[in-house]
Amino acid sequence: MNILVANLGSTSFKFRLFRFDGAGAAALLAKGGYERVTDYGKAIDDCLAELQAGGHVRSAADLHGVGFKTVLGRNLTGCVRADEKVIAALDGFREIAPAHNPPYALGIQRFREKLPGVPLVALFETAFYQWVPEAATRYAVPQAWYEAGVRRYGFHGASHKFVAERSAELVGRTDVAERVRRLYQAGLAPLAAGAKPLRVISCHFGGSSSITGIRDGVAIGTSMGLSPQSGLPQNNRVGDLDSAAVPFVMKTLGLPLAEVERQMTKEGGLLGLSGVGNDMRDIRAAAAQGNARARLALDVFIHSARHWIGAFLVELGGCDALVFTAGIGENNPDLRAAICGGLGDLGISLDPAKNEALRGAEGEITAAGARTRVFVIPANEELVVARETVRCLQAG
Ligand code: ADP
Repeated sequence: MNILVANLGSTSFKFRLFRFDGAGAAALLAKGGYERVTDYGKAIDDCLAELQAGGHVRSAADLHGVGFKTVLGRNLTGCVRADEKVIAALDGFREIAPAHNPPYALGIQRFREKLPGVPLVALFETAFYQWVPEAATRYAVPQAWYEAGVRRYGFHGASHKFVAERSAELVGRTDVAERVRRLYQAGLAPLAAGAKPLRVISCHFGGSSSITGIRDGVAIGTSMGLSPQSGLPQNNRVGDLDSAAVPFVMKTLGLPLAEVERQMTKEGGLLGLSGVGNDMRDIRAAAAQGNARARLALDVFIHSARHWIGAFLVELGGCDALVFTAGIGENNPDLRAAICGGLGDLGISLDPAKNEALRGAEGEITAAGARTRVFVIPANEELVVARETVRCLQAG
């Protein structure tokens, strides 16, 4: 089964082609992408021509599905066929995810025109949060705001779901891993009566960062809110911010709303704090050379991460596995050490040598005797989308 995963940015189109064997194992056959895309139809043609030239897909008939990692839709979530309803749901929330929803709506439309007959599947990033208790999703806003859609949705669902599944495997809870695998087809499958709860805190630290609390494979809350401008400081987007800041800077700095929005999404986050850049490598390099704002950006990130880990430690009543994933989480042992520092009494303690040695690969970094197992699990969101696309198609 050949599954193409389409990753659509506001000006980019990246793809990966996976082949699944009968046992469900996936091989990556090809990957590629184009920058400065203005015509998604042409980008799709170019992609198919590349796959044809590589001998992987002779024609659209050799493609068994296309998966999209859609962000959030109005009144729609889950892993579903990418049809008119998906496009309408993405359009309904284009204001909340302006960099993500319009390219996906357009890209799905173009794929439908270009590849009629090839099933398209949308995996919403919000899908993993379908079972979060309502109290953890609601803001204290007037009812009309809530009815208009103002609530916490959560993002990075593909990544956190992968962590939920993989961490369950790593701690030997195959029952929970199986429940996670089937979540979008079967819903909340019951676990064996009397099974011990499995409490996982998943830290996805990348260009965007979020922390999700997971009980028995199911998200119970997350740091991301209505939009991806929330939670931890992001690369160049503000994280959590008091809503009063917006009218305040409009009035005192004389900024129009559109400019405030632009600055919050382009000039905030680690970039705004550090003044150096939005990439963790540049910020770390500057901090190492004594740049005080770069050091502060790291400290704010660490503080925010500890804040959210603390929230889920309490909400879960403890933590059996703490997981770091994505570009920052996988490659920065000193950030992991700083985030876990002084938490021995709470059961979290790292083995310094194991932590230092582990970059960009899966492994365990728990100190001997510590109660909470700490893992690094590399993110592979495209593979998650491909797997969910296969499950969705097989479930009919
Ligand atoms: P996204 O997919 O959201 O763009 P990634 O998961 O690729 O993001 O993470 C990007 C972040 O990871 C950047 O801030 C980058 O500096 C950091 N990162 C990636 N590789 C490394 C590395 N080898 N060492 C340190 N930081 C890294």
